Amino acid sequence: MATRDVDVAILGGGIAGLWLLARLQTAGYSALLLENNALGAGQTLASQGIIHGGLKYALDLKLNAASDALADMPARWRACLAGTGEVDLRGVPLAAERHLFWARKTLASRIAGFFGSKLVRGRVDALAPADWPAVLRDPEHVAAVYALDECVLDVPVLLQALARPRQVSIKRIHGDVHVSPADEGVVIDCHDGYAQSRRLHAGALVSTAGAGNETLLAQFGLPAAAAQRRPLQMVLIDKAPGPLWAHCFDASDKPRVTVTTHKRADGSLVWYVGGQLAETGARQSAGALITAAKAEFAALLPGQDFSACRYATLAIDRAEGATDDGRKPDGPVLRRAAPNCWLAWPTKLALAPQLADQVLAELPPPSGRAADLSHWPAPQIAPAPWDSIAWEVAAWK
Ligand SMILES: Cc1cc2nc3c(=O)[nH]c(=O)nc-3n(C[C@H](O)[C@H](O)[C@H](O)COP(=O)(O)OP(=O)(O)OC[C@H]3O[C@@H](n4cnc5c(N)ncnc54)[C@H](O)[C@@H]3O)c2cc1C
Repeated sequence: MATRDVDVAILGGGIAGLWLLARLQTAGYSALLLENNALGAGQTLASQGIIHGGLKYALDLKLNAASDALADMPARWRACLAGTGEVDLRGVPLAAERHLFWARKTLASRIAGFFGSKLVRGRVDALAPADWPAVLRDPEHVAAVYALDECVLDVPVLLQALARPRQVSIKRIHGDVHVSPADEGVVIDCHDGYAQSRRLHAGALVSTAGAGNETLLAQFGLPAAAAQRRPLQMVLIDKAPGPLWAHCFDASDKPRVTVTTHKRADGSLVWYVGGQLAETGARQSAGALITAAKAEFAALLPGQDFSACRYATLAIDRAEGATDDGRKPDGPVLRRAAPNCWLAWPTKLALAPQLADQVLAELPPPSGRAADLSHWPAPQIAPAPWDSIAWEVAAWK
């Protein structure tokens, strides 16, 4: 392609696009990321930031493809945080060194057998009661607490760490792009941050646009069913009783609740709650889900005082490559949509490194040629949900 502007254009500045940008540049590609809203604005800033090692997907007490795909991820991310991995994440703080798992009295013996087995050795430790977080010290309701080999990241800081050093290669666009094939690459028509129409010639396009990948399916003549969404409605509890990063394990093979804690700009602690509560509540009204969340925490942690709390909910879809049965794909999904064009979904934030491996394995070698696009404005980083959501001031009962 005589007029190539860049080797690889990436569409979408969530974790998948930003991670891929870093990996491509390290590998010698010229790469440009185009974002049509704000960085992290899709699922990434709405995520809980847990770098899963897969045990959450083995709650039926069997290891499987989904848990295997994640098994190496904690070590890979920790290497990056230490500055010895594929992307330099030194300076990104851990929200929690280890994500926890608390077992209710009812099922403590079942989980103790699995967590004590050879299958999961090295991936989980039983904590002595003295090491349990204060909010879980309730021996009548909490039977055991385990620490998983999974850290929790501060996602807003992670996005800054990925975006800042690559600012010149990250560009704001308006609206959708139009992609057409060209000799040895693709032509991308779009509107830049000043709403000026632009034409870019790229050797390849990788779209990591989350739910936005769906608009490209039609352009490539692919069925809408090539992508899927799985809805959630997360619950946010402001002025939470104390720090907690944990799944609650009970009768189901999914965590009953998954709690992460986030500090708002004014310093107050927010519990951000997923798990079954958020799955079964996906289609409930916000009011009904908040009522259900209050009842859930009254049952799970009856000793805690939630009387000063404020609540909110966040409805958000998980956008993924499709599976036959609509369930979560076991790993990242990379789909070749046209010559030199790929649609990519990491499936989990934790799996962004694996998705980048898959993309790098598909691409032709870099040319390193890059046009000067310094005049295009860059996008902002989106605010985190707990700093931007409208709170309902609700009495506890
Ligand atoms: C509530 C929730 C909690 C989660 N918690 C975890 C967790 O704890 N751990 C974990 O591993 N995973 C978690 N996940 C999954 C994880 O968040 C996602 O797998 C991951 O963030 C997807 O990243 P992405 O970059 O593919 O997409 P997104 O984060 O959705 O980013 C897509 C980006 O593309 C942009 N975009 C869209 N259309 C266009 C377009 N046409 N042109 C240009 N840009 C476009 C969007 O503005 C956005 O910035 C969670 C998901 C949800 C919803």
